[in-house]
Amino acid sequence: MNGDMPDHEPRQSMGPGMTMPVMFVGHGSPTNAIEDNVFSRAWAEMGRALPRPEAILCISAHWETVGTCVTAMDRPRTIHDFQGFPQALFDMRYPAPGAPGLARRVQELVHSTEVKIDLDWGLDHGTWSVLSRMYPGAEIPVVQLSLDRTREPRFHYELGKELNVLRQEGVLILGSGNIVHNLRSVVWEDTAYDWAVEFDETLKRLMLAGDHDAIIDYSGLGPAARLSVPTNEHYLPLLYALGAQGRGDTLQFFADRVTLGSMSMRSVRMG
Ligand code: ZN
Repeated sequence: MNGDMPDHEPRQSMGPGMTMPVMFVGHGSPTNAIEDNVFSRAWAEMGRALPRPEAILCISAHWETVGTCVTAMDRPRTIHDFQGFPQALFDMRYPAPGAPGLARRVQELVHSTEVKIDLDWGLDHGTWSVLSRMYPGAEIPVVQLSLDRTREPRFHYELGKELNVLRQEGVLILGSGNIVHNLRSVVWEDTAYDWAVEFDETLKRLMLAGDHDAIIDYSGLGPAARLSVPTNEHYLPLLYALGAQGRGDTLQFFADRVTLGSMSMRSVRMG
């Protein structure tokens, strides 16, 4: 946690030659959007600490498609893609503008696959639960990039590499998922299974060592990996962020704890 970071520090703006950091955020329960807790506070603090982005490109666990798509509408809708949560969550709107120009730029930059323009999706809770705390004013344009569910983990990492250059253009690349995400094992209390802590710690160690191959080939990381990543849609957004990581980037972990038994909230800022 960055408890020592002053709240009143003025937000730095992007100047020539600056590179935006790249982030992965563990989003966890949608209720983090409306609860004041250690996670939502850490996100808000990070929003204040980052240089102000021109636009945000979010890769959310909650948008899986066949092929890769990018949202290109002027006014993306707020999608309430969950059930059984308080009405206050369904009442939430995150009215950030879209960025059709950024969507076209993504199409231009990515050569490993054809990126299709999407005018139907919008902002799902993987995006707005986090951004509503990081940037509550919803003034920064947001674009979402989908996860092609037909592809292997390495494809997603390589696509992240192709996006790296956007960091020089003032774009905040934000992966939103969870390193450990096993809904079958979730318990609605602040506790952690040993295997969840073990896998989360392994990932921390591998990120610090820069061992991206081991992270991409996570299925080789033993039983804790199988339990922590039963399906990989929450894990893949991390691979985009790591792909977009630059050589000199320092890593800063925040909100780094396991909760609900099998949910790692570990988030990382690179650069
Ligand atoms: Zn989720």
